[in-house]
Amino acid sequence: MWTVIGLVAVAAGVVLLVVWHGRNFAYRCRRCGNEFAISTALDFVSPHGIWFDGGWKLLRCPGCRRWTRARMIRRQEMGSGDGRKEGHADVASGGV
Ligand SMILES: [Zn+2]
Repeated sequence: MWTVIGLVAVAAGVVLLVVWHGRNFAYRCRRCGNEFAISTALDFVSPHGIWFDGGWKLLRCPGCRRWTRARMIRRQEMGSGDGRKEGHADVASGGV
C-alpha cells in the first residue's frame, strides 16, 4: 500500500517537473535558428541528453521541418538571440 502511494508521489513529482520545465524552457533549432516551445506531452516523450554546450532534445523543427538535436534554452532568452539567430523574421520581438 505505501509502495503504491510512494510511486504515485514520484509520478506526480515527475509530472510537475516536466510541466515546470516546459513552461520555462524552449528549444532552438541548430539548422535554421528557429526558436520554439513544445507541448508538455512531447517534452515528456522526446529523447534528450546533455552535450558539451548544454542540453538538447531530438525534435522536429517547425521552421525547417527537419529533425534536429534542438538546443535547450531558457524562455527568457527567446527572441533576445545570441548573435547567431538568422533568417527568421516572424518571431515577435519583445513578446509576452
Ligand atoms: Zn529549423
